[in-house]
Amino acid sequence: MRILVYPGSFDPVTNGHLDIIERAAKICDKLIVAVLVNRNKAPVFSIEERVALLKEVLDGKPNIEIAAFSGLLVDFMKKKGANTIIKGLRAVSDFEYEFQMALLNKHLDNNIETLFMMTGINYSYLSSSAVRELASHGGNIKGLVPDIIIDRIYKKFEENRK
Ligand code: ADP
Repeated sequence: MRILVYPGSFDPVTNGHLDIIERAAKICDKLIVAVLVNRNKAPVFSIEERVALLKEVLDGKPNIEIAAFSGLLVDFMKKKGANTIIKGLRAVSDFEYEFQMALLNKHLDNNIETLFMMTGINYSYLSSSAVRELASHGGNIKGLVPDIIIDRIYKKFEENRK
C-alpha cells in the first residue's frame, strides 16, 4: 500500500494546503495529514483546533487520515509504516528550507523519500501566516480558506483581542 505523509503546522489549514491534499490523495492509497504539535513559535490555533478544522474540511474523504505528531517526523512515519513524505512548493523561497529538511530526514532514515508537488496556480502567494495576518485585522479571507471555517478563524482572533 502506497502511503504518503503530508506534514505541516496547518495554523490554520488554507485552500493551498487543501489543493495539495486533494491532488496527493489521488496518487496514493492513503494520505496521512500529519499536524505538528510543537514548533519554536507558539501556534495561534491549538493542536486540537488545527486537527478539528482539518477534520471538518476533509470530512468524508475515504483515504485521508489526520493525525497529530510531536518529535521527529521519521519516528512518526515508522509508527505508521510509511516512508514517503509529500510537500508543497510555492516559490524558490520554499526550496532551501525544504531541501535541507529532505536531506536531514534522509540522514536520519535512508528509507525516507521526499516528493514535492508544485502549488496550484491560484495559491502560490498563500500561506497560513498571510491568513492569520489578514484575519487578525479583520481583512477578507474568503477564497483563501474553506468557507465553512471562515467564521471560526475570525472568532479566534476576536477572542485573542479580548
Ligand atoms: P504554511 O507555510 O502556510 O504555514 P505549513 O507549515 O503548514 O504551511 O506547510 C505545510 C506544507 O504545505 C509545506 O510543504 C508547505 O510548503 C505546503 N504549503 C503551504 N501553503 C501552500 C500553498 N499555498 N501551495 C502549496 N503548498 C503549500
